[in-house]
Amino acid sequence: MPRYRGIPVCAVLSLMAGCAAAAAVPATSTVQTTATATASVTATTVETSLVTATTTVTSVVQTTPGRPDPGAAGPDGGPTCPVDPAYHDEDTDGLAAEVIAAWTEAETAAAAAGVTMCVNDGKRSRAQQQATYDDYVDRHGAAAAEQYVLPPDRSAHVAGYAVDVQPAASAAWLEATNGSLGFCRMYDNEVWHFEFAETFRLGCPPRRAAPQG
Ligand SMILES: [Zn+2]
Repeated sequence: MPRYRGIPVCAVLSLMAGCAAAAAVPATSTVQTTATATASVTATTVETSLVTATTTVTSVVQTTPGRPDPGAAGPDGGPTCPVDPAYHDEDTDGLAAEVIAAWTEAETAAAAAGVTMCVNDGKRSRAQQQATYDDYVDRHGAAAAEQYVLPPDRSAHVAGYAVDVQPAASAAWLEATNGSLGFCRMYDNEVWHFEFAETFRLGCPPRRAAPQG
């Protein structure tokens, strides 16, 4: 390993990918003596901590036992939304089980109020999220993309806890529930984007201006 004034380069430039890979070797080697499942989780944790070290992220999507696989793809499109053909009504496949259950509960409550909600987009894999991000960059430029699409390791769609609700009238109905059904609108600039958490039933968190705002 190259050195700089007696200090390994990786200690100076620890954010470099090559150094990160080198730094990960001892941890990976250590876990090889333990069960395979443990090794997998530990390796993921190492990778995640490296990602955290190289960016200013506030949360990172990581592989967690019992939660959706960030690498698993969700439906890409799907049936037309029956109340607005401009949108899809995707299956909830791939979302966390608790999200699917809560969504079914929300749909029932909405129907009782005469409202039909559609899932224009739900679960995405890391690859689907990256493709969505790249598409925004191509069409609107990087600055605009950063206002609407998070990178894969920060997206609640990839984690399996986000639904894009359409049309706007049904999203407004869900927003008016103020989290009582577990879903909260998260961003000022996305009236359609909701995330689920059990704790939201006690009240929604403060809304942010934009995904990366
Ligand atoms: Zn969304």
